[in-house]
Amino acid sequence: MNIKDTLNKIELKGLVIPLLVFIVDLLIPLGVAVGVLYVCSIALLIRKEKKYILLVSVFVSFFILLVPILTYSHETTWVVLVNRIISIVAVWIVSYISIKHKDLDDKMKLYIQLENKNKELEQFTYIASHDLQEPLYTLTSFSELLKKDYAGKLDENANNCLEFISQASIRMSVLVKGLLDYSCIGQKKELAIVDCNKVVDAVLKDLNSVITESNAKIIVKKLPKVHAYETEIRLLFQNLISNAIKFSRKNIIPQLVISVREINNDWQFSVKDNGIGIDTRHQKRIFAIFKRLHAKNEYAGTGIGLAHCKKIVDLHYGKLWVESIPNKGSTFYFTISKQINKH
Ligand code: ADP
Repeated sequence: MNIKDTLNKIELKGLVIPLLVFIVDLLIPLGVAVGVLYVCSIALLIRKEKKYILLVSVFVSFFILLVPILTYSHETTWVVLVNRIISIVAVWIVSYISIKHKDLDDKMKLYIQLENKNKELEQFTYIASHDLQEPLYTLTSFSELLKKDYAGKLDENANNCLEFISQASIRMSVLVKGLLDYSCIGQKKELAIVDCNKVVDAVLKDLNSVITESNAKIIVKKLPKVHAYETEIRLLFQNLISNAIKFSRKNIIPQLVISVREINNDWQFSVKDNGIGIDTRHQKRIFAIFKRLHAKNEYAGTGIGLAHCKKIVDLHYGKLWVESIPNKGSTFYFTISKQINKH
């Protein structure tokens, strides 16, 4: 028997109860009880397809009206009709609830499926990037060794080739390390009460040399304490602040403002700069992994920082986006729910 036959069989079964109720209703005057029985027969279809629930509800409504028509006599009162109409309304209410339940059930299944796929993918990324590190390390160290041992003994062409290999393997090591860090984000996450002012202070201390070198002026407004994953929040601020300094305009002192707004159930943080800005058509793409808008010799980086930020904000059920005007500056916004523990 194929799947279609099996399904047909199950669907026929769903009509058996309403048919039995119909026959009993014809033979014995059940009054209000008939409505209750029909409602139960619809409630039994709670996990069935939407189309099927609708079909059975139409049949049931028809059965409910058919009996007083078939058994009509001078004794039939308007109360009977009112009872029947109330029964039909009850049937359609339960039918609506069953359909909504089915929708939610489908969404839940999809969500679980996606979550499992996500976990699989993360596992894969972790294993791949972890295992790639070893051969890459060998490649980098042996090309360095070759360069040292054969210094002055190779012709210019061979030296150039060796240099390319060495640079490419270093670049790949950095990318693989970035990928490994990406897959590790949130692995050991621990919810805590995080004082964002303290976190930003610590980040600014870590970035001290870059800040001094660039002469950056940074204003930090009063920030709240949030229920969040501390290590991840720190990395988030670090990436956004270091980008705001890095992508400054030539000969213009970087000016940053870090602030927050309370919007309903969220804290909306912002990191504003007066840097090079981002064209509107790139503003969504920059959050993808390894997406960069500039050549390595213009601005250093791997293109993974904002992907880290996106993953961290997702962990907090928040949103991350940028508003920017090229050659004027950018503001990166992210939200952190005030009730993360309730998710
Ligand atoms: P990276 O900094 O390593 O290039 P990111 O993922 O942090 O990678 O950023 C991706 C790209 O987004 C950057 O290459 C840059 O083009 C753009 N970007 C990020 N932050 C800013 C900013 N504050 N101002 C202008 N452009 C930015």
